[in-house]
Amino acid sequence: MAKQEDLFKNVVSHAKEYGFIFPSSEVYDGLSAVYDYAQNGVELKKNIREYWWKSMVQMNDNIVGLDAAILMHPTTWKASGHVDAFNDPLIDNKDSKKRYRADVLVEDFAEKIHQKAQKEIDKAKARFGDAFNEQEFITTNARVVEYLAKEKEIRERLGRSLGAGDLEDVKALIEELEIADPETGSRNWTDVKQFNLMFGTKLGASAENAMDLYLRPETAQGIFVNFLNVQKSGRMKVPFGIAQTGKAFRNEIVARQFIFRMREFEQMEMQFFVRPGEEMQWYEHWKTTRLNWHLSLGLGKENYRFHDHEKLAHYANAAADIEFNFPFGFKELEGIHSRTDFDLKAHEQYSGRKLQYFDPELNENYVPYVVETSVGLDRMFLAVFATSLQEETLEDGSTRTVLKLPAVLAPTKATVLPLVKKDGLPEVAKKIIEDLKWDFNVAYDEKDAVGRRYRRADALGTPFCITVDHQTLEDQTVTIRHRDTMKQDRVAIADLKAIIENEVSMKNWLMKM
Ligand code: ATP
Repeated sequence: MAKQEDLFKNVVSHAKEYGFIFPSSEVYDGLSAVYDYAQNGVELKKNIREYWWKSMVQMNDNIVGLDAAILMHPTTWKASGHVDAFNDPLIDNKDSKKRYRADVLVEDFAEKIHQKAQKEIDKAKARFGDAFNEQEFITTNARVVEYLAKEKEIRERLGRSLGAGDLEDVKALIEELEIADPETGSRNWTDVKQFNLMFGTKLGASAENAMDLYLRPETAQGIFVNFLNVQKSGRMKVPFGIAQTGKAFRNEIVARQFIFRMREFEQMEMQFFVRPGEEMQWYEHWKTTRLNWHLSLGLGKENYRFHDHEKLAHYANAAADIEFNFPFGFKELEGIHSRTDFDLKAHEQYSGRKLQYFDPELNENYVPYVVETSVGLDRMFLAVFATSLQEETLEDGSTRTVLKLPAVLAPTKATVLPLVKKDGLPEVAKKIIEDLKWDFNVAYDEKDAVGRRYRRADALGTPFCITVDHQTLEDQTVTIRHRDTMKQDRVAIADLKAIIENEVSMKNWLMKM
């Protein structure tokens, strides 16, 4: 555990030191759970967004984009259920005065039991090698069976009591499991209460006439209220999707995990409108497609798992999370939800307008069902960044810190370095930059010894270093160094563009999906 915490601390400090993420308004000591993306962070974030957008909008002729406003008519949130039901169960520890999400305390407890089972499985795997049959072991090893049954029982009971709004039972569960304050070990808990997560604000100049608004807690509703506008103006035929990326705001109760849980964050959502009755097949389709999108980035299959929801939100008839192995364990990265016709019907009811589709093949009107995919851009950033940050011991015993970002997402694709700051080498290096910058983000670095400059590029996640030396002046060749292997090749300046393109092009990466 201590190791995990260290790893996470490294992630946070590396993000700051190398200009990826700063605490918001840091000169005033920051604002809790609000962060700013710095010069390199903003590029990485933009690339993740673009990678998502291309895979959704550009690669699917039946998905179009949207950029709805953050402020929406307040009735939107009445209809969506957020005014009445967008609550988290909170619990306070009377001794430490710390506040927690009651459901998260229980889930973390269940996860610990899961980890115990996993440990047994890993041990057996190491012992039996190729002969190991994991499925058989899980169902026959008494200890593992007991752990997994306990985990299931806890998760199901939590799901049931949250679903029924039975907060007393959530408290009872915390007491029965003897869950303690993770920071102090105290078990002196208050009752569990509901807390609405929406931020309120006001529209209008004078206090009497001001209208109460909310900052949107999700981007999805902007898509639902525009469903018919887009369908008609785009002559879209069901099934079709609307994709959107943008800010969302939640007054989170506990926000202590860096950019994993922020109060202002960005979502990448796609709502897919389908015929009623066909939603389950589309739900399965999007679960597979979205997992493949994640896997295409090459962060390791073992870092992802599905978690099917026991407790369904008021709008859903099926829901699963894609969980990622963050430095603090497996947690939700993306949600895939079959939202039925709940949202469109609710907006019909509250607005008095029809939000229906005439299906020419069936010759009938209906309110489409919706399958949603919703991934947090900041959580994606954390997943990519934390997994890529590695400490390597080299052959000569020295260590290097390297950010092995998928090259397609790297903020800077190449750093161009003159071997020395004289003899015309800087001029040649700058000329190379002038040529490459039309196609890629490239940087120039002439400070310090070459070895140190390589290390700096490694720490920034830059896939290539291009070094101009005296031979360059004679034969128009340079060395190109690959970040991950540290291998160096001598290549012609004229070939640089193609070499870089081959490694960083979105096309090549997306084709792995
Ligand atoms: P959680 O259970 O972690 O609070 P959620 O189930 O409320 O998440 P959704 O409403 O399904 O999340 O939102 C979709 C996605 O938006 C999540 O999978 C996550 O990646 C992202 N997200 C949600 N809340 C936050 C937050 N406070 N900070 C950063 N990303 C968030």
